[in-house]
Amino acid sequence: MQPYSNSGSPDASRPEDRLPGDVTYLRTMIVNVVMIGAPGSGEWVLVDTGMPGSSSKIVKAARERFGTDKPKAILLTHGHFDHTGSVKDLMELFPDVPVYAHELELPFLTGRADYPPGDPTVGGGLMAASAPLFPNKGIDLGGRAQPLPADGSVPYLPDWHWLHTPGHSEGHVSFFRNLDGTLVAGDAFITVKQESALAVLTQRREIHGPPTYFTPNWEAARTSVARLVALRPAAAVTGHGEPMAGDELVQGLEHLSSHFDEVAVPASGRYVDSARIKPEP
Ligand SMILES: [Zn+2]
Ligand SMILES: [Zn+2]
Repeated sequence: MQPYSNSGSPDASRPEDRLPGDVTYLRTMIVNVVMIGAPGSGEWVLVDTGMPGSSSKIVKAARERFGTDKPKAILLTHGHFDHTGSVKDLMELFPDVPVYAHELELPFLTGRADYPPGDPTVGGGLMAASAPLFPNKGIDLGGRAQPLPADGSVPYLPDWHWLHTPGHSEGHVSFFRNLDGTLVAGDAFITVKQESALAVLTQRREIHGPPTYFTPNWEAARTSVARLVALRPAAAVTGHGEPMAGDELVQGLEHLSSHFDEVAVPASGRYVDSARIKPEP
């Protein structure tokens, strides 16, 4: 079963034009950060912080777009190194900006737990083969890292709510706006074959499950994708790959959900049979 792909059809628009006007993204090497806020408003929220060394690129883009480089808050979909690579630099730049994540992700953000190591045996390409080299150590943000509000609300974004979408990591969250069906999905699903260095380079659009080398619980990942499909998002930006919208998104997600075991779960791998979500002691 091939993953759903629509990359053969012409699409002249810029990738960011697939998102509503107050949501945009910035690619830092292999991973996206998302910026939410009306351009020129001086108010915005950052979702994820990209690869290490990305802070100057992020603040420059923010200054141009919003008129201020300082976000109201930093939200983390999860704590993997490529999503938290610049969080410490940004926290230093903006000492009073709060950082939010799911409470189950906080052990990995406060030095109390490490992620399971990247699994090279999932196959799929050079990125997967390199997975053992990717950092899996938790980081320590200290008391600055706070749990997202238990009622599902999102600080500074009154129209949005967060959903617990575990599987790729224990405390993984996605963000959704009911008003227009905009989804920020982190790595719950992604729009590029992240295991393949070539696909990452070209950003060929194709809906996939979470990056396989870092996903320890496929049962939970399947349930999370089903939850997101049920939202019928109109537009989505994910942790890896270009934004998607409309039929391409809905059909791709439905295909992923209904063929999840064939499309998303690797045929073999360290975490395929024995779903392991608990941090190592
Ligand atoms: Zn991840
Ligand atoms: Zn990622």
